[in-house]
Amino acid sequence: MNTHFDIIVVGGGLSGASAAITASRMGKSVLLIEKHNCLGGVASFGPVIPFMTNYTHDPITGERLELSGGLYLEILDALNKVSRTPSPWPECFSEEYLKLILNRMAQESGVKLLYQSVVTDIKMSGEWIKSITVHNVSGNTEYTADCFIDATGDANLCHMAAYPFRLGRESDSRCQPMTLCFRIGNVDMDAFHKEHQNINTLWKKMQSEGKIRNPRENLLIFNTVGNGVLHFNSTRVIGLDPTNANELTVAEIEAREQVFEIYDFLTDNFSAFKDSVLLSTGMQIGVRESRKIIGEYTITGEDIKGCKKFYDGIALCNYDMDIHSPDGGGTSHYYLKEGEYYSIPYRCLIPKGSKNLLVTGRCISATHEAQSSLRIMPCCIALGQAAGVASALFDKSTKGVSDIDTDTLKQTLIDMGASLEDRIIKKPH
Ligand SMILES: Cc1cc2nc3c(=O)[nH]c(=O)nc-3n(C[C@H](O)[C@H](O)[C@H](O)COP(=O)(O)OP(=O)(O)OC[C@H]3O[C@@H](n4cnc5c(N)ncnc54)[C@H](O)[C@@H]3O)c2cc1C
Repeated sequence: MNTHFDIIVVGGGLSGASAAITASRMGKSVLLIEKHNCLGGVASFGPVIPFMTNYTHDPITGERLELSGGLYLEILDALNKVSRTPSPWPECFSEEYLKLILNRMAQESGVKLLYQSVVTDIKMSGEWIKSITVHNVSGNTEYTADCFIDATGDANLCHMAAYPFRLGRESDSRCQPMTLCFRIGNVDMDAFHKEHQNINTLWKKMQSEGKIRNPRENLLIFNTVGNGVLHFNSTRVIGLDPTNANELTVAEIEAREQVFEIYDFLTDNFSAFKDSVLLSTGMQIGVRESRKIIGEYTITGEDIKGCKKFYDGIALCNYDMDIHSPDGGGTSHYYLKEGEYYSIPYRCLIPKGSKNLLVTGRCISATHEAQSSLRIMPCCIALGQAAGVASALFDKSTKGVSDIDTDTLKQTLIDMGASLEDRIIKKPH
């Protein structure tokens, strides 16, 4: 059994899958280790829909331009091709097809997949990772690689390597709330459209009367690819630390109570739900925010408000700063103006001082505010693709990942269609 790879990616969420597929397409041997039985991370096991939008317009032609190009567009295209159930709008997708197409893309690119496997330990030599230990049904196995990518969402590998991190917001370490998503089927959709406004009015009234435990200000509901099936991003668990296993357990229990509270509320009060069925809850509670590494650069809310473009920008984004209150009800938004966007520097993917470890996805080096924007799925895919290219360009005879030539990194992303920098940043507005 081969236990050495050019690159090992830990975590098969959208960012990790994108990193692994990209590096493998660039000719590297890549091992991708994932705790669950599929790729996609919270998008698949959350499940989380839809892809939040991240686009601007070509300053010259006015054409809509996706700021996360490359693999994100490939994934959308592949989903469109295979899905038997038409999507109600382009960013809405079926997680079952997502799992299928990511398996296929990973296999076609030559990624070695290792499912139902958890990285439990790491061996370091100074700032260099020497090996990691993977636990699965076969037992414990040690793997080595030239370069490692932490795409665990929670920066688990960085944590094992003892790199410092920040948790939640800067003032008190509180993270955005956790949410267990769920689906209700057999909903009378005509009745639902008529009753939708009243649902939130009654919700608020009952909440103010102390009859509802869930602190969320309203019910956030999305259509799915299934007719009569609604997706609920509506539970809200606050004040618990997602990096503490005991508190995470309390969160899972509280969220499940909230699922049934919402289901009972809807079936008791609205005709749209009288014959409905509670179809499924996520495989685990969704964590919006947990550890974020301290990187060579930390992107901030001010950078986003100022639409800063960095010399080493490797992903573009203009999704709003969307903060579900860590304290209770309410969700705050800071929207960028039409056509504006910011870039995310490569340095945010480098844990400070790291030699052969990169980080990608929602746990890159960002403040609480900045992470609330860049955490969206299209951006995580772009961050993954950038980490994949960087790892493939990595040369172990150099001083480390911070030595990678960022012009080559950016040009490779442009050549892959993953970056639009040549089309929008260099042209005058
Ligand atoms: C409730 C909720 C709703 C959201 N709504 C939206 C939305 O509507 N639209 C949108 O665009 N974005 C949304 N987001 C944000 C977005 O879904 C996530 O930020 C993004 O998918 C994170 O991707 P990731 O690859 O960084 O991490 P993850 O998807 O968390 O993937 C990390 C992976 O690492 C694996 N892993 C962790 N530790 C180990 C280990 N030690 N060994 C092996 N594997 C490990 C995990 O199993 C997981 O598969 C939402 C997030 C949440 C939680």
